[in-house]
Amino acid sequence: MSEKQNEAFLSVKDIEVIYTSGKKIVHAVNGVSFDMKRGETLGLVGETGAGKTTIARAILRILPDPPAIFKGGRIELDGVNLIDLTEEEMLKIRGDKIAMIFQDPMTALNPLMTVGDQILEVLQLHNKSESKEELIKRAGDMLELVNIPRERYGEYPHQFSGGMKQRVVIAMALACDPQLLLADEPTTALDVTIQAQVLDLIRELREKYQTSMILITHDLGVVAETCDKVAVIYAGEIVEYGDKRSIYKHTTHPYTIGLFDSLPDISVQANRLKPISGMPPDPTDLPEGCAFSPRCPYATEECRAAHPQLREIAPGHFVRCCLRGKEE
Ligand code: SF4
Repeated sequence: MSEKQNEAFLSVKDIEVIYTSGKKIVHAVNGVSFDMKRGETLGLVGETGAGKTTIARAILRILPDPPAIFKGGRIELDGVNLIDLTEEEMLKIRGDKIAMIFQDPMTALNPLMTVGDQILEVLQLHNKSESKEELIKRAGDMLELVNIPRERYGEYPHQFSGGMKQRVVIAMALACDPQLLLADEPTTALDVTIQAQVLDLIRELREKYQTSMILITHDLGVVAETCDKVAVIYAGEIVEYGDKRSIYKHTTHPYTIGLFDSLPDISVQANRLKPISGMPPDPTDLPEGCAFSPRCPYATEECRAAHPQLREIAPGHFVRCCLRGKEE
């Protein structure tokens, strides 16, 4: 592996994002840090409202401003702190170096434009020197890359199924060969039978182009098949982080254990799903000490007294828990 591949390609350091809601402050992301090497895939896992999408939007600098306020932290892509860039400079980064696949393909597609022209538009934005004919050909190539015949270039989004629409969105996201792909629950809005096909396609293209990817999901099964590293997010912070193998083999944080227990196990017929008891905390009024303590079966007074820090319990495996993992 070259030196370049070994160093952090994306480095997120201590980012904090709040939303203002009337007089209340929603603490959406509370000091999240992680690193990614070139070509790596990181799974951001957690329940709805944990802050996963806000982290991705902060990286792309597309937070709604206001009510969202980026309170602090650094986001370095290839050594450049994105937070220091002007909006004009960010426009060149979006689509070109970083692209995002959203949950619902309809939010990313313009119903009044043909799918081919939408891919062409992305290509034109970032390839000013190439002729229109050349770019039209490349837009057709992108359609074929996602297994849509180029003959369908002139059709509109409503003429495509949900899975095909998401494949068009993937073609748009990959059109400029981005270095980093942010995929926010890319299959949630799709039919179950189509989900696996779309995930397979994302995996295949990511490997082909060696694109780094952050995959946002609530599904640990999807992470197992797709990611190299995992960051489990709870109440806007990372509670467990590390290499996928280490996390799956030595699951340590009680919240991560709860996520695994709530996965359906088709090999054990009698197995009943065990949902994590209780509800995620109110982000405008986070509990003292450990944010998971109201739902944690191991909680003690110590947990409620002080906010646990991330601890490295094995090389590269971090856990935010004052009790678990100490025995290792
Ligand atoms: Fe549970 Fe305590 Fe660990 Fe929090 S710090 S996860 S309450 S054991």
